[in-house]
Amino acid sequence: MNIIKSKSFKRIFVITILTIVLSFELFQSGIYQNRVFAQNETKEKNMKFNVSKTDEEWKKILTPEQYEVLRLKGTERPFTGKYTTTTTDGVYNCAACGAKLFKSDSKFDSHCGWPSFYEAIDNGQITEIKDTTHGMVRTEVVCTNCGGHLGHVFEDGPKPTGLRYCINSISIELTKDTLKK
Ligand SMILES: [Zn+2]
Repeated sequence: MNIIKSKSFKRIFVITILTIVLSFELFQSGIYQNRVFAQNETKEKNMKFNVSKTDEEWKKILTPEQYEVLRLKGTERPFTGKYTTTTTDGVYNCAACGAKLFKSDSKFDSHCGWPSFYEAIDNGQITEIKDTTHGMVRTEVVCTNCGGHLGHVFEDGPKPTGLRYCINSISIELTKDTLKK
């Protein structure tokens, strides 16, 4: 009788422990994901941009396609953007707020399907945010002036910086006359 009791007790004890461990693991993973998400969200929410508009205001200014990329961090399909192979001289401005972002001098053909630049026009014009979506760790780049999503920056670019700013054509606007300034 004691042996049976002892075996039952052991079984219940083991099942209880396993249940607690499993629950804890599930709880932990959920909390962990929420925390990472919240941290990113909080970080971005705390960022102050000179140009700040509501979603409704942005929708009035931007085309649906621009809104999808600039405000919802979408990505245009490769080789479909209007600046992928452009070699025209000029300055690329933010399509949402007009801030100057890249010079045509720093544009290079990366064959990746999106316009690529090895450096931003000036330090501080572009803000980098750690992006952990889609199961990858990447560095998102946004316009410092308005927070508009531009694309990502990778460390496989050419000299002198070794950087590749991989930018959505729809997020930028090429102007020829501003290069003189
Ligand atoms: Zn902008």
